[in-house]
Amino acid sequence: ISSVELTVEFLKRSRALNSDYNAFITLDEETSLAQARAADTIVASGEAQPLTGIPIAQKDIFCTRGWLTTCGSRMLSNFISPYDACVVERFNSAGAVNIGKTNMDEFAMGSSNETSFYGPVKNPWDTSAVPGGSSGGSACAVAARMAPAATGTDTGGSIRQPAALCGISGLKPTYGLVSRYGMIAFASSLDQGGPMAKSAEDLALMLNVMAGFDTRDSTSLQREPEDYTRDLEKPLEGLRIGLPKEYFVKEINDDVALAVEAAIAEYRKLGAKTVEVSLPNTRLSVPVYYVLAPAEASSNLSRFDGVRYGYRAPEYADLNDMYQKSRAQGFGAEVKRRILIGTYVLSHGYYDAYYIQAQKLRRLMALDFTEAFKLCDIIMGPTSPTVAFDLGEKSSDPVQMYLSDAYTIAVNLAGLPAMSIPAGFGKNNRPVGLQIIGNYFAEAQMLKVAHQYQ
Ligand code: GLN
Repeated sequence: ISSVELTVEFLKRSRALNSDYNAFITLDEETSLAQARAADTIVASGEAQPLTGIPIAQKDIFCTRGWLTTCGSRMLSNFISPYDACVVERFNSAGAVNIGKTNMDEFAMGSSNETSFYGPVKNPWDTSAVPGGSSGGSACAVAARMAPAATGTDTGGSIRQPAALCGISGLKPTYGLVSRYGMIAFASSLDQGGPMAKSAEDLALMLNVMAGFDTRDSTSLQREPEDYTRDLEKPLEGLRIGLPKEYFVKEINDDVALAVEAAIAEYRKLGAKTVEVSLPNTRLSVPVYYVLAPAEASSNLSRFDGVRYGYRAPEYADLNDMYQKSRAQGFGAEVKRRILIGTYVLSHGYYDAYYIQAQKLRRLMALDFTEAFKLCDIIMGPTSPTVAFDLGEKSSDPVQMYLSDAYTIAVNLAGLPAMSIPAGFGKNNRPVGLQIIGNYFAEAQMLKVAHQYQ
């Protein structure tokens, strides 16, 4: 099959399903097909790489030259990016085809895709359920086979939680492995781009393209390139799986606990051993995150002032009024809530009490993982405490929504890699995700662990 044929099929399906699922903010057939034709020429010349000609959906947080890049916000609803994010550039040089830009929570703030200016995305397993967030459009597109694979970003769980809720696989790499250049910033010390796909093997092929040093991101890590497919077929004999006792508690719904335990039993059959470990500061992860992430967001989002690009209020009295009205109209409620929290915790008099305390706890949480990894090679647990919830169920209760990420956030605070893979179904036949957390740079090992189960 040629790339053009493949792309036409996926575009047809995406167009047909998008009015229902709302997974894509932008589809641009002409541009996608031009890329597919170019890919077919590369294939004909014998220069194809593994992803040449493969359609990949890009989360609308990645700046993509010539494409509308909205970050799910009215603030960027008129922003055609003049440049490519590093991740987009890398897929382009690998010959992949951009099949469209996926819907997401506004500025990646959310766990249900309901904060998007472009409206919520539906879960293809059950259209009364949310797909998770913030990479909900990407997860939906892959689950509904509108795209074979997609990119996502994960600041506190935004790749893993929607992957879990939509029954696909997603990987958040070690912080610094994938360049953040051109990835619209939410909380820079936590944000990391990563792949979302049907299988661990696909994730590995994508990570081979996405990972690598980039001088334009000051936190990008200079390391020898790796082939993330190299260990996929290796056996799991002797693997020590750590089960954090704080991850198997009554807050986890029974249906999720059962599915996760069944997956772990499978791993024992494959030759792995399980040991109990402890991450004593787990209960602090949500409060610590909701000090640090808004603090960084309030600073990052100060660039959206209506002056150089993005939304500008149509009517205003003077410069200050222009700033105020542009931001008041351009940002949605959740984004404003985070900016308010962030400026509060960074302000004089509160900085030491909140921001500095949270930074200290962040350090302790990272040390919890260092201790745990002395006893095990890999950590497993649920990705999300529940299966996909109903649209509207949590949208008026921010704290309930924030708790969706209770088991994903600590990983971002520590900068560790983690993934979610499908582990059967729970209540109402909605998918359950198994979370696999690795030590720094253990991506190849985690992908092997996922692949052997799949
Ligand atoms: N749901 C979390 C939040 O709202 C995480 C989002 C993310 O990882 N981008 O901040």
